[in-house]
Amino acid sequence: MYQAPRGTQDILPEDQPYWEFVRSTAADVCRRYGFERLDIPLFEETSLFVRGVGEGTDIVDKEMYSFEDKGGTELTLRPEFTAGVIRAYIEHGMHTRPQPVKVFSIGPAFRYERPQAGRFRQFHQLNVESIGEQDPLVDAEIISVMWSFLEALGFGGLLLQLNNIGCPACRPAYMQALQDYYRSHVDELCEDCRRRLERNPLRLLDCKATGCQPLIAGAPRSTNHLCADCSQHFARLRAYLDELGRPYELNHRLVRGLDYYTKTVFEVWAEGIGAQNAVCGGGRYDGLTEELGGKPTPGIGVACGLERLVSLLRQQERPVPPPQRPLAYFAYRGDSARLAALRAVEALRSLGAAAEIAFGDRSLKAQMKAANRSGAGWAAILGDDELARGVAVVRSMRDSEQVEVPLGELASWLAARVTQP
Ligand SMILES: [Zn+2]
Ligand SMILES: [Zn+2]
Repeated sequence: MYQAPRGTQDILPEDQPYWEFVRSTAADVCRRYGFERLDIPLFEETSLFVRGVGEGTDIVDKEMYSFEDKGGTELTLRPEFTAGVIRAYIEHGMHTRPQPVKVFSIGPAFRYERPQAGRFRQFHQLNVESIGEQDPLVDAEIISVMWSFLEALGFGGLLLQLNNIGCPACRPAYMQALQDYYRSHVDELCEDCRRRLERNPLRLLDCKATGCQPLIAGAPRSTNHLCADCSQHFARLRAYLDELGRPYELNHRLVRGLDYYTKTVFEVWAEGIGAQNAVCGGGRYDGLTEELGGKPTPGIGVACGLERLVSLLRQQERPVPPPQRPLAYFAYRGDSARLAALRAVEALRSLGAAAEIAFGDRSLKAQMKAANRSGAGWAAILGDDELARGVAVVRSMRDSEQVEVPLGELASWLAARVTQP
């Protein structure tokens, strides 16, 4: 017996209304903010992610699905969207378009992680990027689009976690302060943090080990080491958030351990979504486009995992638009009635309505049961008597009222009743 690979799941027809609700809400909210859809390949050259996500990150070091294709090219299933989006921005010369270029993507990404509740190796993200503008108003907009998305899904108690990790001008001095602080506590560090101290000091701040927590609480904060530019950017962003009434907490543990991440880093937390694994996080990456071979171009993006949102919507039994039910179900008795029903159901479908027809040699009673189960608004019943008179019996499935409709008008008569009885 085959099973879906570890860390993957089937999204069954009965789950689809939740997914469709999440996807259509995402597209609608992005449209309101002026983001256009961009689809990028599921795989890219491995080196794009090594440079774009960064060596030394868990994603690149441990979690990528990498393979050599039959032509000898090293490829990787996308573990996130930003690197591919920036590759597309550079490749298509989007710097010549009005800036910022505002795009969103939605679809699967792949990471070889230890599967656990709500975490998958093939998972889905809504990813939103705004490329080419450094105005902090753009940061406020990126935060707002994710905020509005969660709100539109019905999540409450939203809280923004905010930090500013500086820029190439001010970060070296901060890193020095951080390393000095940690070097004086090296005996208290966990094994991972000892490695981080030399390799990637910013990541010391997001260590999850219990023993490291007191050290993190006392560590120097990036926001106390900002240059004038970063400081002004941060102050203006906070003023915009105040203006919008979006509550935020300064969280100096939010970091991105790579040089091309700059200034704003944030997560959006919602009630019921554990703070431990924030589903929505993002930040500014003013150095990334250049790192990937483009002109220096500021940018900011955010990604939101969708599995957790869908499972919460289901758990909480939130009302979502129901799956489509057929407008009509065609039942028949006899071979010539079956042919007439076949012509009529196809005619109704060609008019744009959903319609079903009975299969097999079932009794009319069994066919009517099937009509009921299908949730159809109407049943069209064809028998030899009706056929001889050139009509069909149409029964309302709600109140069992019946009318006779001329066969030639059956499809258009039903199609005119798209609002179900
Ligand atoms: Zn700075
Ligand atoms: Zn640690």
